[in-house]
Amino acid sequence: MTQVYNFAAGPAVLPAEVLRQVQSELISYKNSGMSIMEISHRSSLYTDMAFQAEADLRKLMNIPAEYDVLFLQGGATLQFALAPLNLANKYHKIAFADTGHWAQRAQEDGQLLSGYTTEVAASSKLSNYTELPSGIELAKNYDYLHLTMNNTIEGTMYKDLPYKGDVPVVGDLSSIILGQEYNVNDFGMIYAGAQKNIGPAGLTIVIVKHTLFEEAPELPAMFSYAKQAAKHSALNTPPVFAIYVAGLVFKWLLQQGGVSQMQRRNEEKAQLLYDYLDSSKLFSTPVTEKKWRSLTNIPFVTGDKAIDKRFIVQAQANNLLNLKGHRLVGGMRASLYNAFPRTGVEKLIEFMQKFEKAVGG
Ligand code: PLP
Repeated sequence: MTQVYNFAAGPAVLPAEVLRQVQSELISYKNSGMSIMEISHRSSLYTDMAFQAEADLRKLMNIPAEYDVLFLQGGATLQFALAPLNLANKYHKIAFADTGHWAQRAQEDGQLLSGYTTEVAASSKLSNYTELPSGIELAKNYDYLHLTMNNTIEGTMYKDLPYKGDVPVVGDLSSIILGQEYNVNDFGMIYAGAQKNIGPAGLTIVIVKHTLFEEAPELPAMFSYAKQAAKHSALNTPPVFAIYVAGLVFKWLLQQGGVSQMQRRNEEKAQLLYDYLDSSKLFSTPVTEKKWRSLTNIPFVTGDKAIDKRFIVQAQANNLLNLKGHRLVGGMRASLYNAFPRTGVEKLIEFMQKFEKAVGG
């Protein structure tokens, strides 16, 4: 099989060891004679597996007991609506940091819910989202502040929280969860689609402080954190396969040394590419301020759309896949999640150097 390097922003690369284990258990899970995709979600085969996945995630992120861990469906996008419905029940008012595309999508969906108000507390629009707002100050009468901790498209990231007040923070960690150490206690809720740093699409992780949704009005079952928590996320048929793969990734992360080790590796990988981009005459990243640079999503451009296009085609032919940037920002983007190997970054840089020479940079 040809060795390829997959730089996709999501669904993204999974650890090879995990894929091999999935392959070996696909036909008969734990010698049950049933595929993991065939087991009942009411059997102990499932409940043991889901319980272990939650325990391992709790260990990896040091999640305190007063937080529920939910394994939901509908992607991170569904949380744009469910977070307001469950958490914004005192003031019906939510503050947003406008840090780019996904933050805006989250606000738009919140605003569509009748009876809720959303407000932009801070924005980095003036920098064309190449920087992030910091030192955010808020009045107390918001139910929460929504922060997109890693902006997958724009390539910016909060390493620390830009707000230190009393309003709870809801963090979208979709493209950085388990790749950078954060303190769960700093958040009222964390959510993330699984398909970047965890496992297959179809699973959404929600980590939420129990007290924040206790006062919520009664909601339809699939909208309700309280009902999902009471049924351990198995209110209806859960995404068994996706939870199973996520559980294997959690074990793999523990074996690798946990989130601190992942962060260290991610910093090394990202540094290699940023150093090259900063020294190149052809390529550059729009995120010029180092403190805002994402560890996991690195956009770059040549400044000439025709050359960008040629680069992407030639990279693909050299087994460097999915480097095309998001249509909103153009250019290229390298996503370097936990399972992405350092050798892939080295190969990319080698190729970029050759390309730069060929175009006379
Ligand atoms: N939030 C962020 C930061 C993302 O990067 C994405 C997807 O790329 C989403 C939300 C939407 O995720 P989903 O496809 O799981 O709904």
